[in-house]
Amino acid sequence: MVNSKIQSAEENLIHVYNRFPVVLDHGEGMYLYDADGKEYLDFAAGFAVSGLGYGNKELARALKDQIDQLYHTSNLYYHKSCGEAARELNRICGMDRVFFTNSGGEAVEGALKAARRYAYTKQTGRYEFIAMENSFHGRTFGAVSVTGHKAYRDPFEPVVPGVKFAKFNDLDSVKALVSDKTCAIILEPLQGEGGINLATQEFMEGIRNICDENGILMICDEVQCGMGRTGSMFAWQGYGVRPDILTMAKAIGNGIPVGAFALTEEVAEYSLQPGDHGATYGGNPLACTAVKKVIEIFEREDIVGHVNKVAPYLTKKLDELTEEMDCVTERKGKGLMQGIVVTKPLAEVNNRAVQEGLLVIQAHGNVIRFVPPLIVEEKHIDEMIVKMKKALQ
Ligand SMILES: *Cc1c(COP(=O)(O)O)cnc(C)c1O
Repeated sequence: MVNSKIQSAEENLIHVYNRFPVVLDHGEGMYLYDADGKEYLDFAAGFAVSGLGYGNKELARALKDQIDQLYHTSNLYYHKSCGEAARELNRICGMDRVFFTNSGGEAVEGALKAARRYAYTKQTGRYEFIAMENSFHGRTFGAVSVTGHKAYRDPFEPVVPGVKFAKFNDLDSVKALVSDKTCAIILEPLQGEGGINLATQEFMEGIRNICDENGILMICDEVQCGMGRTGSMFAWQGYGVRPDILTMAKAIGNGIPVGAFALTEEVAEYSLQPGDHGATYGGNPLACTAVKKVIEIFEREDIVGHVNKVAPYLTKKLDELTEEMDCVTERKGKGLMQGIVVTKPLAEVNNRAVQEGLLVIQAHGNVIRFVPPLIVEEKHIDEMIVKMKKALQ
């Protein structure tokens, strides 16, 4: 049954994903189940999306109610939840004005356009972006243009011009690229796809200073590291370094397709104007209900507090694993966004993990990435370590 489902999918889809031969059926908390009833402990969270895990009844109820009531209106009108979702998201992400998108890539597109639009209003003649090596910002044209891996860009050249790449955590390499044409600097405070690389405090502050001194906008891409994952609601808050533009997606809707970019009031005033940008589905009632409800649950259940309680245990257990296994050379990351560097072929390790009933993700630099639902508990971490050890053997 499973094989025929896989075969019919393969015959009808464009082959861009190397999927595991698993047909998932349903989920509950930290676990996913396939069509044969096999259980998988989930340390992938659908790419750091399902922060609240699976089968959250309260969220499902709110979404079902919204579907019954209204789920599309277009942005020519307001609806009940758009203002509330925007207010709540601004409050928790510490920004002033938000635009809802349908994905992370679209949020990055909007952020880049907002930066260019700001320069256009101010007539600064600035258009260049400085991005980071090993960054990942998505698959749309603008997003791949600022993504610091040639493999993502080369097949699509020429991409958006005016992008330079600096070394992550190396302020001098950023300074060397700054010119009177620099419009914005874009970075992930904690690089995900690029191998779980955490920005230093000095780097974040240094970027902020470079931006302030040179009239450059700072864009933080928190599509993956935002929404509680690093132990603060958004990673920038942990540094106390506020960007001018912030991108979000993944966990903000717990799986309902929704992203956002947000601006400070100052940037918003000179940036996008009526007619400059839009998204037919963006911020529809279903997406906004998801954002509103996810934030409500996050705060009521103190998910960020929970992350700070449980993350040190993950760190400890991964440190022990690194110590114990010869093929694990390093632990990286912060909060519930961590990784281990392994010397074995990742695909093999990952395949064996799936056989053991454990879902993890790969990242660049031969990293196995652990981004579990944020509701993970110590017992799940113990179970993961047991399975991971078998996968690494
Ligand atoms: C996943 C990701 C994106 C792209 O998000 P999509 O929803 O897949 O378009 C952008 N930036 C970062 C940091 C990401 O991790």
